[in-house]
Amino acid sequence: MTTNQDAGGRRLISYLLPVYNEEESVAVFFAALTQAVEPLTGRYDFEFLFVNDGSADGSQAILESLASADPRVRVITFSRNFGHQIALTAAFDHARGDAVIAMDTDLQDPPAVSLELIERWEQGFEVVYAQRRSRRDSWFKRTTANLFYRLLDHLAEIKIPRNVGDFRLLDRQVLEALKRMPEHNRYIRGMVSWVGFRQTAVEFDRDARYAGTTGYPLRKMIRFAVNGIVGFSAVPLKLIAYVGCVATALSAIAVGYILVVRLFFADQAVPGWAFTAVAIFFVGGVQMLMLSVLGTYLSRVYTEAQNRPLYIVRSVVGGGAGGPVQPPVGGAGDSATG
Ligand code: UDP
Ligand code: MG
Repeated sequence: MTTNQDAGGRRLISYLLPVYNEEESVAVFFAALTQAVEPLTGRYDFEFLFVNDGSADGSQAILESLASADPRVRVITFSRNFGHQIALTAAFDHARGDAVIAMDTDLQDPPAVSLELIERWEQGFEVVYAQRRSRRDSWFKRTTANLFYRLLDHLAEIKIPRNVGDFRLLDRQVLEALKRMPEHNRYIRGMVSWVGFRQTAVEFDRDARYAGTTGYPLRKMIRFAVNGIVGFSAVPLKLIAYVGCVATALSAIAVGYILVVRLFFADQAVPGWAFTAVAIFFVGGVQMLMLSVLGTYLSRVYTEAQNRPLYIVRSVVGGGAGGPVQPPVGGAGDSATG
């Protein structure tokens, strides 16, 4: 299982660090991280794998200067912005560690907590996720996140722990399992729950962003939430049947009512056009809604059928650069799907 032990038998830990327009935070973050892991450098080797997810600011120059100053740093640069989950996926593909730790580069995930993750890994856990005891996000973000987790809890076929982001440690074995999941619409925290293994949590308090703005505006958050639900639940599809039943039952009741009025209260005519119009709009609306549920699943099938690579790398710099340990899932991933 462990392939990276050097002569001293030290194990390698890879930090997976997605970066999107973090020019104000990333250097401060890296200084804090290296300082935090300093006491462990006698016991482990470290690798810091940054993925620049098509930043439009000065992040790349900063990352390259980090790489030239520290041989443990490697910078993978995408040809454009592919999104956080894909950036993490590229880091999975390129990581060489016996364990990997994914974390934000905006100092929201405290570096000190990652040491606790390593400790739990040493105790034999293969997935150690950092669970937020508190978070300092806006009221809106907290409320919508809460609603989403609740919904997902009800719908998903597997248990996905709440208040867990992508700040977590994964053992090499888990990483290899994840690399065999080539899906394009990725909800990594769900995928990690899906693969199983011995999982545990470490609690922490999430800080506010050090600088800049979130790379997850509402639009991306909704897409992300839909991926979480659609990727792990077929309940919305079944919902179509339920809604159909209810609509049919309602119209049956209406028919009964009309018949009764016609037969027994001939003097009171049922007002015709208003009822008809409302019924048409109602049924039309429900049908559109249900079609959109179908469409959401269909679009996932479409994306998978196209089978494009998950990401395109423009350059790899530093840390004895070179390609991924194994071909990326999106590229030559077909064989891995088994
Ligand atoms: N990020 C990324 N690509 C994106 C958006 C974000 O690589 O398209 C990175 C970002 O630099 C950060 C991490 O992913 O290190 C999490 O994003 P962010 O902090 O913006 O999300 P939040 O913490 O607000 O949920
Ligand atoms: Mg963040």
